[in-house]
Amino acid sequence: MAKTIIVQKYGGTSVADVDRIRNAAKKVVKTKKDGYNVVVVVSALGDSTDELIRLAHKITEHPNERELDMLISTGEQVSCALLTMAIHKFGEDAISFTGAQVGIITDNAFTKARIIDINAKRIVEELNSDKIVIVAGFQGVNLNQDITTLGRGGSNLTAVALAKVLDAGSCEMYTDVEGVFTADPRIVKDARKLDRISYEEMFELASLGAQVLQPRSIEFAMKFGVPIHVRSSFSNKVGTIISKEVKAMEDTVVSGVALNKDEAKVTICDVPDKPGIAAKIFKEIAKEDINVDMIVQNVSRTGATDVSFTVPGVDLNKTIRVAKEISNKIAAGAVAFDKDIAKVSVVGIGMKSHSGVAASMFEALAEENINIEMISTSEIKISCVVRKIHAEKAVRAIHEKFGLSKK
Ligand code: ASP
Ligand code: MG
Repeated sequence: MAKTIIVQKYGGTSVADVDRIRNAAKKVVKTKKDGYNVVVVVSALGDSTDELIRLAHKITEHPNERELDMLISTGEQVSCALLTMAIHKFGEDAISFTGAQVGIITDNAFTKARIIDINAKRIVEELNSDKIVIVAGFQGVNLNQDITTLGRGGSNLTAVALAKVLDAGSCEMYTDVEGVFTADPRIVKDARKLDRISYEEMFELASLGAQVLQPRSIEFAMKFGVPIHVRSSFSNKVGTIISKEVKAMEDTVVSGVALNKDEAKVTICDVPDKPGIAAKIFKEIAKEDINVDMIVQNVSRTGATDVSFTVPGVDLNKTIRVAKEISNKIAAGAVAFDKDIAKVSVVGIGMKSHSGVAASMFEALAEENINIEMISTSEIKISCVVRKIHAEKAVRAIHEKFGLSKK
């Protein structure tokens, strides 16, 4: 009988230096010796992707995206070769590959490419000759043979996609924390590790600022039903299983609290209150590839109203420019912006069937005298914008309110 395949992904912190690379190699070898076929996906060493991006920006303010991918894909090539050598040192047979070499084909969207196909033939051949296969994460190749990358944190996506095509028994994500927590343990001392969380909740938490996993990789895992095990590379403890919703999950009203301090608020003042205006504003903004998150607008009593919305902090300058142009076109007023905001969110499948969650969240903020500036809700999440200086206090208060530290 063919051996079960295990896909393991080691994040940047798990291969940050030579000792950690050796430590990862040891784990890989152990899994192989336990009787599995092992496919490993690696991220670039530590912060080396950030360093490469910084380097590019020293040359030019707007690096060409094809060349940027050519550059930042090298980080993973370094780590996969080094990890393979470390495995050789432990006496096991292993071989490293780039994304292109193992047939990871993507579309042409440089820096955020989507995988369109994987031809895993080469991987299967190497596994059949009893080798451990190490794949450079985060990268692929388009139909023109240009190197592409899959968006920041994209090694997660490589791992999930390989787990799917190889029909792997499990997909383990090794990181520097023990799993997914009810809140960032650096902010909430008694945050609790979750044993299990649904794809939907994990997707929301990741999108709302929890940094454990790339949202796109969770979307992919959900679509194809690939269970993910997030765990620490520095211990042997069981981490968090991300899987499809099971009945018991509904009992937990709130699973976690997320914080995003990287958004900014833009307000277009005195916007004429008539049909078609909102469509005009947000169409122009979308054209510039700016991802708008929360939007607040009220019915006016005077014929004009303020429209506020949040965008990623990195897109703020671009947004202000576009907003001013629009404001001129539609005869609205001034454009104001605010970088000192933070978005605090609670996520939980149980919200579908429990009421009063929003009220409890607002109460937690009120008790700390924290003002709420914007609110948005969906089926399984509630987000509030507050002053950035109150962000951590808000997370702690909400965590406490929902009793998340207790099992
Ligand atoms: N090295 C890339 C990044 O830092 C990809 C990854 O780590 O998954 O975004
Ligand atoms: Mg990284």
